[in-house]
Amino acid sequence: MEEKTVFDKKSAEEMDEISKTLFAPIYPVIADNIIKTSGIKEGVCIDLGSGQGSLAISIAKKTDLFVYAYDFSGDAIEIAQRNIKNCNLSSQIKTVEGDVHNILFENCFADLIVSRGSMFFWDKPNLAFKEINRILKPGGMAYVGGGFGNKELRDDIVNKMIIKDPKWEEKYKRNMSEEKRKIFAEASSGLQNSKTEIINDDSGFWIVIKKNTLMTM
Ligand code: SAM
Repeated sequence: MEEKTVFDKKSAEEMDEISKTLFAPIYPVIADNIIKTSGIKEGVCIDLGSGQGSLAISIAKKTDLFVYAYDFSGDAIEIAQRNIKNCNLSSQIKTVEGDVHNILFENCFADLIVSRGSMFFWDKPNLAFKEINRILKPGGMAYVGGGFGNKELRDDIVNKMIIKDPKWEEKYKRNMSEEKRKIFAEASSGLQNSKTEIINDDSGFWIVIKKNTLMTM
């Protein structure tokens, strides 16, 4: 039986620490990959399961997007608020506490939805992807998944993480397993008015959802 991850103050602080050290170089690279794939640089962006806010911050620094950093952990949100303030980005990034299974935004709200390292913890990925599709604007795109941005960063970080925490390798392999990829690919398929593509390469495993410009009811 898979152990359920607890998102408490300690885990939020640990994620914050690692995001500022070993993981620090991945966020600007992932943000560049997202911007290149989507071509979206203005409008509204939501980072789902944003944790300490690192991806939201990188996206905000590189674009004119107004970014919502969205997470169900009050502890993570508190840390994100501090990090956003320290980067002088409080006027471009707003934090919102909420669950991906019942997203607190109206239909067709977001031009771009991003999420890194969170979907592996969602209880009902089907429901979460339906919600993502619901709040995407026609012509908008979602880029959701996990990874380290490129081969060089992945290899370096995976090697160092295995030394730091031997239990981490097992979790990483499970999250990136063929079985898990199938579950996420299935959960994000057949979304109304959208096309889904899978990126499965050195940058990680990412689900890309593109909402049609013209919607049918
Ligand atoms: N995205 C950040 C990053 O890549 O550094 C943080 C990743 S952290 C491993 C996973 C985050 O997803 C946690 O902050 C957790 O609170 C959040 N999360 C997990 N399940 C969630 C859910 N159902 N709704 C909202 N946030 C969720």
